[in-house]
Amino acid sequence: MKILFLDQSGQPGGAELCLIDIAKPYQQTCLVGLFADGSFRTLLEENHIPVRVFTTQPISVHKESSLVQGLASIQQLVPLIAKVTRTASKYDLIYANTQKALIVGAVASFLSRRPLVYHLHDILSPEHFSHINRRIAVTAANRFASLVIANSQASKVAFVQAGGRADITKVVYNGFHPAKYQTEESVVTEIREQLGMNGKFIVGHFSRLAPWKGQHVLIEAIAQCPPQVTGILVGDALFGEQEYVQKLHQLVTALHLENRVKFLGFRADIPQLMAACDLIAHTSTSPEPFGRVIVEAMLCGKPVVAASSGGVVELVEHGINGFLVTPGQPQQLAQLIATCLQDSDATTKIGDRARITASQRFDIANINQQIAQLLQAVVHSTAR
Ligand code: UDP
Repeated sequence: MKILFLDQSGQPGGAELCLIDIAKPYQQTCLVGLFADGSFRTLLEENHIPVRVFTTQPISVHKESSLVQGLASIQQLVPLIAKVTRTASKYDLIYANTQKALIVGAVASFLSRRPLVYHLHDILSPEHFSHINRRIAVTAANRFASLVIANSQASKVAFVQAGGRADITKVVYNGFHPAKYQTEESVVTEIREQLGMNGKFIVGHFSRLAPWKGQHVLIEAIAQCPPQVTGILVGDALFGEQEYVQKLHQLVTALHLENRVKFLGFRADIPQLMAACDLIAHTSTSPEPFGRVIVEAMLCGKPVVAASSGGVVELVEHGINGFLVTPGQPQQLAQLIATCLQDSDATTKIGDRARITASQRFDIANINQQIAQLLQAVVHSTAR
């Protein structure tokens, strides 16, 4: 099957990393079209997935945009839509991986008469998207998509609540390669030494730095923990949240945590860094659509404590294969960290169970098979 994947981002967020795994089986015949240039293109090239940057001009519609701003961007979209439509006519199917890709893909699908699939990686809630943006996304998906793949039940429910069609929406979780999350003990020792955190209880946070990802909640929690508790913050501001980064550094200074909290920036060695942690914290203050880092931590056999909201509750069973805490509550998080520190045997068992459940539920081979069947059904039904 020849698939034209579309993604608006030049940076590798969770949706983009997920797309690499989905596109890989089609690398001989597919094309990934991007609406921005950046390190995501390089990652696709490293994975031998054909990629083309369709435009380098930023599309000025944001998640909170109004109708007027939205209409103003149409002029900008016309040449992009023309290019995508021309390209789409050489493919069997258009696979839109982000919201702007959905809009461009919807028009290109109509003009090129190719079926459209929309992979929904977001919770379309008022917290994250303006009313007009939700309406545009839902209308485009309802009218033009043959299939919507939601990355969790939570994303599907929000889509349907916003007016999206339940009958074309299927939930498929992100897939992972369990073998990538096995790390040699010698590597773990080396990383802990490099971090200067040998003998410490390391709590890791892995996410782009953004206010709703709640890194501040972890920093505040660490300040309330015994002194051997330290933290690493892995990730960078991908979408211009520099002000928040500054605030985080100020918070660390104000709480005198300079020796206990380290910022590591964006890293490619996530499995190894996770393996070096004693506990992984996920602290999103708004509902997380899926939470790849949670599954990755589980695959590393690490106990994870996650903010109980959105798709997260579909991944973690409290006290069985991880822990759930109320979002935005540093005190509760600090108490949980202290419990894990004290009862390391019970915590280790939870990490072991997490690895088993995650390897079974999120194996990329199964997930890609589910997606392949769904895409084949779309192509067959539209060919008739
Ligand atoms: N990630 C990474 N390097 C970093 C920080 C994060 O490769 O320094 C990856 C992380 O391993 C995960 C993804 O970025 O696979 C983030 O996905 P998630 O669903 O957790 O959040 P999103 O970015 O989609 O909101």
